[in-house]
Amino acid sequence: MPFSQYTVRDRKTPIGGIITSRECPFACEYCSSSRMGGIGFRCRSAANVVDELTILHEECGLTQIEFLDDIFTLNKRRAAQIASEIRRRGLDISWSASSRVDTIDKGLILKLKRGGLNTLYYGVEAGSQRVLDLMNKRVKLEHIKHAFRATRECGVGTLGSFMFGYPGETLGEMRQTIGLSVQLNPDLAQFSILTPFPRTPIYQRLKAAGLLMTEDWDRYTVLEPIIRYEAFGYSAEKLKSILTEAYRRFYLRPYYLAKHLGEFPLVLWTLFREFYIRLQEQLSRPIASLHALKMRYCC
Ligand code: SF4
Repeated sequence: MPFSQYTVRDRKTPIGGIITSRECPFACEYCSSSRMGGIGFRCRSAANVVDELTILHEECGLTQIEFLDDIFTLNKRRAAQIASEIRRRGLDISWSASSRVDTIDKGLILKLKRGGLNTLYYGVEAGSQRVLDLMNKRVKLEHIKHAFRATRECGVGTLGSFMFGYPGETLGEMRQTIGLSVQLNPDLAQFSILTPFPRTPIYQRLKAAGLLMTEDWDRYTVLEPIIRYEAFGYSAEKLKSILTEAYRRFYLRPYYLAKHLGEFPLVLWTLFREFYIRLQEQLSRPIASLHALKMRYCC
């Protein structure tokens, strides 16, 4: 495909992605992306990465770049070199990247910001230390809070990812996760339902225990329950309601709305449309009853 096609239709900001390293040495039990990268962490040199960024910017006109590495900040020195090379070449680009709460610090965030970083993505996943340990996440809740605080203090945006339905997690612990998302208060939060992708340890365990509902990969969307949750004391429907509750509690906070609504005209339009549909539903019920009453007594 020609590079000129690497744009999102109707987007004012031409955006594109780049992968600069493969593999992640951590072994979170649910993670599929780290298992697709082969054996051992490998990365491209800073100069090679910035050569490609130069092409994306100068020949394709991209001004917003997303680094799609599992953990862009795994090699802190290289990450800082990339940012400094972007700056040295005067590339007018803004970019986002994924990090891990224990591979980041304020000094590095500031260096990255000087090279155009606008948002860091953190996979938080759970608000309970017990569940983080079940996932083999190998981070502490204090690290999570510290990383979000440091990122905010450096004036860089945050995106937090949270997950529900890990085997063994209780409904109370899921609510702790929602509470942590509100407490961390990232600019964007992404909530999902555990999806046991093939080759992950959690997939193998659940399959061996006969707890997978389906292997229809079309249903492995991270939004649909895939596990027989009755074995853990609650239903798939309950889990879906927790997901909805999380989105509602995070995005419909007056503080959040006041801070971000101006940036999201689409959100405003969606909320207005939702409100209008609900209003129509509410109004149509008494009108329908009146109509039924009229029909009953007039016929
Ligand atoms: S979730 Fe992140 S830290 Fe964990 S294995 Fe996957 S890429 Fe690595």
